[in-house]
Amino acid sequence: MGFRTDFQDRPPEVFFTVDVEPDCPPYLHGWRGVTEGLPQLLDLLAGEKVPATFFVTGQTAERFPNIVRQLVAAGHELGCHGYSHGRFGAMDRIQAELELAKASSALRRFSPTTAFRAPNLDLPDAFLPLLVEAGFGVDSSEGSHRLDHRVRRLARTRRETTGLLRLPASTTSSVLRLPPGLRDPWLARLERPVVLLFHPWELVDLRGERRLRWDCRAGTGPRALAAVREVIHLFRGCGARFGTVADWAATQTTA
Ligand SMILES: [Zn+2]
Repeated sequence: MGFRTDFQDRPPEVFFTVDVEPDCPPYLHGWRGVTEGLPQLLDLLAGEKVPATFFVTGQTAERFPNIVRQLVAAGHELGCHGYSHGRFGAMDRIQAELELAKASSALRRFSPTTAFRAPNLDLPDAFLPLLVEAGFGVDSSEGSHRLDHRVRRLARTRRETTGLLRLPASTTSSVLRLPPGLRDPWLARLERPVVLLFHPWELVDLRGERRLRWDCRAGTGPRALAAVREVIHLFRGCGARFGTVADWAATQTTA
């Protein structure tokens, strides 16, 4: 069962999404991913002509406005990844509203921002209406690979999803950094549409950071940049089309 044979009959739509935040939160507190990794990623995406959706935290946008301007100018979509990268699952309603309001005002000075992804893919269903009230039309806070997502998808009521499109991430970012012999069969089995997830800090060599879980540090650094290129070529080789979350939303109806 090869990658091409799984996809060649019906090439997938692929959405490359990037969560932009401090380095591997909450374990590290630097910004090398934004200052060193993100420019490399933008160069790669420009060279490959792949549009992406960048879910940026409000604090990142306040700290690095020029980088946000640069990614918007390059034609990428600006999405919201909260303000402080705090976990929504640990917030009460007032805190969540404040977090969304601060993030929205930090991001919407650069671009209309209508897509949202919660840090750690942790967003209680009770907060979904807050996203709609804050002007978001798409949520990408679920992960197709996660058991809680599968359970919630079965249990979800129609009311909970009214007015909000859901586009789950297909897998964790660490999958992209696996050796190709493991990675490619994994990617071939992903649900459609394929939503890839990546972080600029993965382009920083964190292999010596013993504070991190092994899957956060394995394959980080230059190898991760090569992996992104390989994965783009892999999907493109079977006819996949790349788009932004906004592109996907434009093809959906919320009826
Ligand atoms: Zn994050």
